[in-house]
Amino acid sequence: MSSSAAESYFTQVQFQAKAGLCARLAVYKLDSDERREEGPGAFVLRHRGHAASISHDDHPPINPHEREEDTPTGQSELLSQRPVQNGSASEKTKGSLEGEEEQRGEEERSADEGFMGMTPLLQAHHAMERMEEFVHKVSTHTHHAMERMEEFVHKMWEGRWRVIPHDVLPDWLKDNDYLLHGHRPPMPSFRACFKSIFRIHTETGNIWTHLLGCLFFLGLGIVYMFRPNMSFVAPLQEKVAIGMFFLGAILCLSFSWLFHTVYCHSEGVSRVFSKLDYSGIAFLIVGSFVPWLYYSFYCSPQPCFIYLLVVCILGISAIIVSQCDFFATPQYRGVRAGVFVGLGLSGVVPTLHFVISEGLLRATTMGQMGWLLLMAALYITGACLYAARIPERFFPGKCDIWFHSHQLFHILVLAGAFVHFHGVSNLQEFRYTAGGGCAEYEGPL
Ligand SMILES: [Zn+2]
Repeated sequence: MSSSAAESYFTQVQFQAKAGLCARLAVYKLDSDERREEGPGAFVLRHRGHAASISHDDHPPINPHEREEDTPTGQSELLSQRPVQNGSASEKTKGSLEGEEEQRGEEERSADEGFMGMTPLLQAHHAMERMEEFVHKVSTHTHHAMERMEEFVHKMWEGRWRVIPHDVLPDWLKDNDYLLHGHRPPMPSFRACFKSIFRIHTETGNIWTHLLGCLFFLGLGIVYMFRPNMSFVAPLQEKVAIGMFFLGAILCLSFSWLFHTVYCHSEGVSRVFSKLDYSGIAFLIVGSFVPWLYYSFYCSPQPCFIYLLVVCILGISAIIVSQCDFFATPQYRGVRAGVFVGLGLSGVVPTLHFVISEGLLRATTMGQMGWLLLMAALYITGACLYAARIPERFFPGKCDIWFHSHQLFHILVLAGAFVHFHGVSNLQEFRYTAGGGCAEYEGPL
């Protein structure tokens, strides 16, 4: 079912509501006209199709409120005045209807007194009450119709959507124009967005790479945190330091797969989750720095603290910048990649400090510099593919579903995070083997 079907349904509901209101107003007007023509001789209370003729002579002018109270709520129809049908009533009203002049006089008198003895003010009040009743009924019907329409729209989006080409996407969903087909349409239902995880489209790979990665790091983190304390030199400090890496990785991957899942919900939701996604990258980078700086500068707490402070300030700056709306636009793709690569490359300064202090040999063996460089290479390659949109740039339309740049970037981020974890766990093992003392070692380690 398309969005135009939903619109036509909504238009139909609106039309029906308007038509109902017009019809009711017309009936009301006709009734009023009839009353005026018939005069105040008699009126008929119509109730469930039974017409009960009541002589005006038998009853004093009737208060409309009293008439409504006599009629069961929800069952009464419009009270209307009709020419009297049965014989006895006709006879009783006969006198009052004799002669045109008398009738005219009656009408003039009735105009002065108001309809059925009611003053014009009371008539107006009565009419207002009727109007309010109509409006209430119409609004209730419209409300129910809207509820039914919402249900219908939700059901429609839950399973009956089809992937659409890039050129019919709304502007806020247009991100990579080298992915020509296989896009999800806008789906204003979170349930539909989450169900789309199990469908094949341009975001399927992006979602699953980081959803599975998130579960992997969650499991690994739990196992690592529950390792016996005897495996650590300073269990609490070390678990906090390594825990920061796991926290950063889990936040980054969670925000990422959530963003890719609800990206097509609406412009507002997409904007909020894209900011979370970018913030998650900053969390991962800062979280990765913490255990590496902790172990690399284990015996030099002052530089360790300064480097941690600097990377935290840079990380917070990156998060602040990523809250700007322009940051998520396709034109700023290169800037985004640059901001996060720059944040990662701020690690060059402590790395040089470490290599100069330790020497290249010790840095590459005990300092796990090889793994660190591999991690940097994976992240930077991922960022370059992301910024340049390789390979889909060279094969537009061929990488719509699998192996487009964003998927490769996701896989490289996962690989980089795992390599970093491997390097950090080697640093931890080295520290455990060396013991907590620093006297026998020269330099930061
Ligand atoms: Zn992503």
